[in-house]
Amino acid sequence: MDKEQKLKKIKEEVLSCKRCLLHKERFENKFYPVIEEGNHRASIMFVGEAPGLNEAKTGRPFCGAAGKILDELLESVNIKREDVYITNILKDRPPKNRDPQPEEIKACAPYLERQIEAINPKIICPLGRYSMRFLMEKFELEDQLAEISRIHGKSFKINKFFYNFTLMPFYHPAVAAYNPNMKDILKEDFKVLKTLLEKILEEEKRHREEWESEKREMEDPFY
Ligand code: URA
Repeated sequence: MDKEQKLKKIKEEVLSCKRCLLHKERFENKFYPVIEEGNHRASIMFVGEAPGLNEAKTGRPFCGAAGKILDELLESVNIKREDVYITNILKDRPPKNRDPQPEEIKACAPYLERQIEAINPKIICPLGRYSMRFLMEKFELEDQLAEISRIHGKSFKINKFFYNFTLMPFYHPAVAAYNPNMKDILKEDFKVLKTLLEKILEEEKRHREEWESEKREMEDPFY
């Protein structure tokens, strides 16, 4: 299956998913599951926690108040929203925006795992402590797990199984809605993200050029 087929299959499965009780909430309120948005070739993948009311009404991740802050953060470092990939751990809205429950995360996380595998991003940014904890545990970084106040904006290189990416946790953008100082912290972290992205893209370009020059030499009969 190619990337698009894999992502389409995930979408179809989520639309009829009844693995946890949150699907009842969705059917009763005529909500949508919030599956993904963005570029399937993105270098950066953001992983939020769960849809809020606006998201469940539209099926789009981060389209409410927290989404406005995310947009502002992206804009502050000149990264276009359409160039990144955005999803959540939970695809359905928990009632009254309560915190995700462990059994809901357990039921829904396989979709996220398959999205990560299909997108194969260079950088994954959990937004908030739930996605941070889930992803750090999944990629065997438990020994480096700490309060988000200590590890936000830090890079964790993952080179395990067939994954090769950097995990960079951030505070959830919603924290900036209640505390303006947090927006400054988030903006600083987004600058770190931008620097990392530029470094990765530069390295890739160098590798490509080196490979092309090696190929030319190999094809040269006088070499
Ligand atoms: N908060 C999240 O974690 N995800 C969304 O999609 C919206 C708000």
